[in-house]
Amino acid sequence: MKSLPVVVLMALLLSVQLVAQSSDHPRVLVLTTGGTIASRTDAPMEAGSDLVGAVPALLDHAAIEVEEFSRIGSSQMTPGHWLRLAERVNEAFESDPELAGVVITHGTDTMEETAFFLNLTVRFSRPVVLVGSMRSSNEISADGPANLLNAVRVAVRPAARGKGVLVVLNEDISAARDVWKTDNRRVHTFRSPEFGFLGVVDPDTVMFYRTSLRPHTTNSEFDVGSLETLPRVEVVSDYAGFDGTAIDDMILRSPDGIVLATFAGGRMSAGARQGVSAAVEAGIPVVVSSRVPGGRIIGNPVGQLGAVVARDIPPHKARILMMLALTQSRNVIQIQRVFDTY
Ligand code: ASP
Repeated sequence: MKSLPVVVLMALLLSVQLVAQSSDHPRVLVLTTGGTIASRTDAPMEAGSDLVGAVPALLDHAAIEVEEFSRIGSSQMTPGHWLRLAERVNEAFESDPELAGVVITHGTDTMEETAFFLNLTVRFSRPVVLVGSMRSSNEISADGPANLLNAVRVAVRPAARGKGVLVVLNEDISAARDVWKTDNRRVHTFRSPEFGFLGVVDPDTVMFYRTSLRPHTTNSEFDVGSLETLPRVEVVSDYAGFDGTAIDDMILRSPDGIVLATFAGGRMSAGARQGVSAAVEAGIPVVVSSRVPGGRIIGNPVGQLGAVVARDIPPHKARILMMLALTQSRNVIQIQRVFDTY
């Protein structure tokens, strides 16, 4: 990875300080990546400093440093971006013990994946809050400015420490592990179907009611600081009548791992069963994840196939946890331990 002086120099070059006159406010670093929150329907995506500058009320709560990390729709996010984001967040907390928190503005399409990755790779307990919007900044009742203000209000809260990476939209606070984008259009799209919100951001205060008990951040075993790339894990979907050939084709590309998105309880089509066996035979670890958003895959329905079960982790997040597990071991017993832990 790049040497520290270069990272700091680049950060300084890209960052803008927005400080209220009498700022003894907590300091927050806002990393902007793009997404609808920075978009207009009638012009190109806005610069990070303009996005943040458009919400002067932020300065009532924090001394803000803005740094443009990227300017992309989140459908263009990649594991490479995740690695650099994790490095930048860890470096920011490492080099500045007084930094209260980090807010990341991000598109909503892959926000839950970036949040899940950072939840397992940020090595600090200070708040990291992802925020976005469902309406562009020039649309009527744009939700971006209020979401950004609420994200900063959460990031400066001591009560937000140790809660893992958070997602804040529509006055709701969600845990990175549990949150899903559940609606293609509406502002209340982020929900945690199984375990609900951790808290809310009300006009008068920020309230937390729960915390996530699965390990994250400072209790995570994953350290990606020295990695240039992540293992390549592909996802394949099972369906009624699937003949498995998509898995055979995948095996030819020698991925480091495969996630099968299959039916409830880890039950799968005959074609998928053949494909999983062939992949395991070829030495490619396979994780079986349910396409159903509620409940765990219990027991070990695929043990006899030599595959791993993802418990309650959905396919797109199971891919991320498998990538991280593969940075340590290709042993399926070890990978299963990871899925039983996180
Ligand atoms: N296309 C947008 C994205 O970047 C959608 C959004 O942000 O709501 O993910």
